[in-house]
Amino acid sequence: MHQENTDITLLRDIIKELTTTLRKQDFLTYFKRISLLDHTPEKITFWVVSSFMRDNLAHKFFDEILAASKKILPTVTSIDFSVDKNIDNPSNGNVMDCAAEYKEITAKKKGKEETPGTEMVEGINSRIINSKYRLENFIVGPSNQLVHAAAEAVVRRPGSAYNPLFVYGDVGLGKTHILQAIGNAMKERYKDKKVIYTTADRFLSDYIESVKKRTVDRMKEKYQSIDVLIIDDVQFLAGKDATQTVLYNIFNTLFENNKQIILSGDRPPKELTALEPRLQSRFEWGIIVDVGIPDFETRLAILQEKARAREFILPQEVAEFIAYNLGANVREIEGVLNQIIAEYELHNTPPTIDNVARRLNKLSITDSLIGNSTKKMQASIKTYEELLDAVAGHFGIEKRHILGDDRKKENMIPRQVAMYLLKNRMNYTYERIGNIFSGRNHSAVLYSCKKLETILKKDQNLFYEINILRDKLGI
Ligand code: ADP
Ligand code: MG
Repeated sequence: MHQENTDITLLRDIIKELTTTLRKQDFLTYFKRISLLDHTPEKITFWVVSSFMRDNLAHKFFDEILAASKKILPTVTSIDFSVDKNIDNPSNGNVMDCAAEYKEITAKKKGKEETPGTEMVEGINSRIINSKYRLENFIVGPSNQLVHAAAEAVVRRPGSAYNPLFVYGDVGLGKTHILQAIGNAMKERYKDKKVIYTTADRFLSDYIESVKKRTVDRMKEKYQSIDVLIIDDVQFLAGKDATQTVLYNIFNTLFENNKQIILSGDRPPKELTALEPRLQSRFEWGIIVDVGIPDFETRLAILQEKARAREFILPQEVAEFIAYNLGANVREIEGVLNQIIAEYELHNTPPTIDNVARRLNKLSITDSLIGNSTKKMQASIKTYEELLDAVAGHFGIEKRHILGDDRKKENMIPRQVAMYLLKNRMNYTYERIGNIFSGRNHSAVLYSCKKLETILKKDQNLFYEINILRDKLGI
């Protein structure tokens, strides 16, 4: 049907234009497979493979796509998106694989890509500090409030009250994040201070090398000229007596000169019994704070922050499901998010509780999730608030837009879906629904529900979406 009128060249030109305005990550994540249904001089309609993708494009990149379309076809005044589940049908010759296209386009203008590694700071092997670790994106909850506050205090007044700052906790709870975030903040705030972040491992190999080259004194001097010294994972100095002695000397000089020292370990100094007692006790001079295991709310907030940073829309209920089922280790939570994004990028698999539960099982992080926790999550959804959250999450819009009264299509449909489900699946009366939706009257709600029913008769996809939602909600 739509093959006849399409124009693959037009699509290719628009895509090419978009690669100049969008970030690679966005492009690869959200543009995957797209085809052109139809265009008049004024309007272009894009077909995409799922409603998840349609929502993403329509919400996040509408302006960019419209601008690119106008640039290529100046008469265009509007664009639209539709879902076509058959987009992947091989007979559909008008589908474009945007990732391949992107690679081709950028291969020509590709420069060197940055690889993280080490940078030499006046002879010291300092690890490059990752700029994504910031105090602002470190999510604060009861488990790590103290660590965050101490980090901020150290940045405000380096070398004074909290010296050294010793951060300890289990793996994957954010020690490296907080240490590097301090490094970033220091560098930004005090441009002329020499800030070094390193790991105990790296420090150790620096030392071994200087022994070989007979330049231990030089190494010491260099470290002693630093203004802010950050050493991650000091537990790895266990048993390395000579290295500990050097660190002890460096520590003393820096401390006497009011230079800030920040350390991390997998347990508090007192328990680092494989370290020399004098080093252990130095580590206790300032403030010792632990990063604890984040509670559910904090885990959820961290996950949402990570998704936001990747500009990936993670439906609320999926985020809750992950935060609920994955406990202690934040790195594992992040790993699951990465898997979900990859699944979406590679196979167009949208993030749903079912898909994620299956994936978690595969990763065997938890046991029999599908059997237990999915049901647990489903059973726990009872109130209209939860239904609204689920609908909002599913359609990738904010709850306030569902409850609002604008007439934008991308808000109206989810709004009608929410009313329809409340009425038909949760037995709310029209009056009660009206009260929830900013005091609409009984007949307005009735009209909305009827309206949706007529749409459903024609729109197979929406019908299907609602079934997915009902499944998830267990209603
Ligand atoms: P550790 O060094 O303690 O093993 P990391 O600092 O490497 O842990 O943390 C693992 C991952 O979890 C990192 O990507 C980090 O950004 C993330 N993370 C941990 N805690 C938080 C938090 N409170 N807010 C945001 N991200 C966090
Ligand atoms: Mg670490």
